[in-house]
Amino acid sequence: MADRKARLEGLRDELIERIERYRAHKEQRNGPLDKDMEEQAVELQNDEVVDSLENEAEEELHQVMHALGRLESGEGERCEACGEPILPARLEALPYTTLCRECAESR
Ligand SMILES: [Zn+2]
Repeated sequence: MADRKARLEGLRDELIERIERYRAHKEQRNGPLDKDMEEQAVELQNDEVVDSLENEAEEELHQVMHALGRLESGEGERCEACGEPILPARLEALPYTTLCRECAESR
């Protein structure tokens, strides 16, 4: 399953890059406040969107790292809840999953 590891690593790098971009965006925004109220309100809304995108990316990254860790310890193809093998088609579709379909659905 070297393929899956490569996909996970690619996904991890992509997510790290994305999170860095979100952070850079927010840092830039913390500059001097020389804008009118309306402009500030719009930017505040944008910040909230960026925040939630960042949280989402962080959560996904966490899951990817977790899946990579399990892969490295040789448990990557087993469900973390019941220990049954995860179907290859499921791993293909969701490379970062650590649960079989039954367990994922019952959560
Ligand atoms: Zn399971």
